[in-house]
Amino acid sequence: MIRDSVEAAARLLSWYDRHRRDLPWRAKPGETADPYRVWLSEIMLQQTTVPAAGPYFRRFTERWPTVRALADSPLDDLLVAWAGLGYYARARNLHKCAQVVANQHDGRFPETEAELLELPGIGAYTAAAISSIAFGRKATVVDGNVERVVSRVFAVETPMPAAKPALRKLTATLTPDERAGDFAQAMMDLGATVCTPRKPKCMLCPWAEFCDGRAAGIAETLPRKAAKADKPTRRGVAYWLLNPEGAVLLRRRAEEGLLGGMTEVPSTAWGPKAPGDAAVATEQPLPAPWRRLPGVVRHTFSHFHLELGVVAAQAGDGWRTAEGLWVPIDRLGDQALPSVMVKVVRHALSNA
Ligand code: SF4
Repeated sequence: MIRDSVEAAARLLSWYDRHRRDLPWRAKPGETADPYRVWLSEIMLQQTTVPAAGPYFRRFTERWPTVRALADSPLDDLLVAWAGLGYYARARNLHKCAQVVANQHDGRFPETEAELLELPGIGAYTAAAISSIAFGRKATVVDGNVERVVSRVFAVETPMPAAKPALRKLTATLTPDERAGDFAQAMMDLGATVCTPRKPKCMLCPWAEFCDGRAAGIAETLPRKAAKADKPTRRGVAYWLLNPEGAVLLRRRAEEGLLGGMTEVPSTAWGPKAPGDAAVATEQPLPAPWRRLPGVVRHTFSHFHLELGVVAAQAGDGWRTAEGLWVPIDRLGDQALPSVMVKVVRHALSNA
């Protein structure tokens, strides 16, 4: 059991000084953290893993080295660079946030959690992470890694997500007044490299002797998870329509909602049943001699699975009347196509 949180924090920080991960967005020992890089990385890491975020982070910071450069960039350029990361509402908020920081805060991120929370796209976790990592302020930073470590150290057996408030309080009791940002990063590193979901490496852990989960032999089973409801499956049909010049019809999704503002291959609505020929005809972007391509495109969003059939056709004389934009096939890479639509394009190209 942890009886002395000051000593526990000191041990963890000493471990961190020796074993910290070298991450592209992280300040080196002795360097001052750049709030822009901390913010950008934290938003990206809400979407994806550390290895997957690295190349995106490098591309973004090479192209937009400052928050002002990002604010001045057209939103479409940012959406194209973001493509593949998912949750495009976050990319739009990234742009809005950059503009607010550039125009209303003279290009400098505010330091306190309360002020950071006022910025677009910044929630409680991100505000705490920026405030502590970029500015060294004391804040309780709790991500999935931290929840796992804390649930094990204190042997918290309440299932998630009900355990979240208790885990947050316990994390707060451990957070030191000094080096709060390093402590937050140390917790993340411990969870990512030592206190891993499977087979935690307790022999290498600076908290092994305090850890109640380890003492009780239940560490690997924590945090407990509530039984998950199965995700529903939605189905639809995408229209792969070529004009006589060899360009494909795309359209832009509504700004609000799933994949808001992204470019897509037109499709029927997505519902529980696969659309039959009548629905395909009703929702078609132009009357055309559609033929169904073999197979389906599968994609999983956070709340549902999607199965999209694809129909293909050559547009007739009225092709100029279609709503949307015609994009030559070799220019599709310039479009902000979300991952699901990249799959549709690949499926159509290999089966049409
Ligand atoms: Fe995790 Fe093991 Fe360390 Fe406990 S002793 S915090 S279970 S790695």
